[in-house]
Amino acid sequence: MTELINFWLNAQDQIVSVGRDWERCANENGGHELTCSRIIGRPLLEFVSGKVTRTFVQSLLQLARDSVKPIELDYRCDSPLLRRYTRMRVVSDASGGVLFSHQTLRTEKRSCPVRIALASQRGHHTPIRCSMCNRVKLANAWLEPEHHLQSGAPDSPQMWVIYGICNACALQLRLLTGDLNP
Ligand SMILES: [Zn+2]
Repeated sequence: MTELINFWLNAQDQIVSVGRDWERCANENGGHELTCSRIIGRPLLEFVSGKVTRTFVQSLLQLARDSVKPIELDYRCDSPLLRRYTRMRVVSDASGGVLFSHQTLRTEKRSCPVRIALASQRGHHTPIRCSMCNRVKLANAWLEPEHHLQSGAPDSPQMWVIYGICNACALQLRLLTGDLNP
């Protein structure tokens, strides 16, 4: 079993602590702005990009607090060279605090490197990246980013995106909510 990357929120959705593997994981993935000293005490939603993704996270938190069982969702936490298939487990305690655990289930090497960066503003043709499955929407199709790069711009492997949630991932959360409130 691979390691679990954990963090805890209080009832006000502020990050109150992180697991012992957090710091190493943040550094390995270039997330220096995500080291412990910079995130403890701050609201989780400050680190979530895009209105649709923030609404998704708020719904997930509500679901976790309404549920007696842990909520499990599969998502991707990709790097430029790897597709990382990851499982998130979200569980609430009696005080309204919430524990997030993240476990990498498997990885796949990409067919070409994919560097993704957040666009500072949304243009008419700015692609949307799903915050959960990491697919990218261009011309109404949600596809792996390699597909867009290979077909469209092989010489410029950097993609500037904004963040959202695709229909399939929104459905995944709605089905969990439906299980809880049939
Ligand atoms: Zn998705």
